[in-house]
Amino acid sequence: MTRREQTTRRQAQHSPGGPQMHRYECGNCNLVSDPYPFRRSAEAYGHEHRKKRHDGMHPLNEAILTAAGRMPEKSEWRVMAIVGALILVGLVSKALGIG
Ligand SMILES: [Zn+2]
Repeated sequence: MTRREQTTRRQAQHSPGGPQMHRYECGNCNLVSDPYPFRRSAEAYGHEHRKKRHDGMHPLNEAILTAAGRMPEKSEWRVMAIVGALILVGLVSKALGIG
């Protein structure tokens, strides 16, 4: 079996030295996975996806997208702040034995 791998590179805003994020993209299903810090994780996602949707076959137009990490945008900071606050609340309530 020949393993076909297309390397499509879509570089978002490039910030040198930033962490690389990897996504699995299936052009066939028109989907992109969440970004993973490890390429292997994105590939594992692709593996699962192929098993579930393509009977383990390699669809055309699949790719691992790699983009340099970037600073979150203004709107994303707010979401991150909320998520961070929720985590903090969760941790505190757990520590105090409320949760
Ligand atoms: Zn697919």
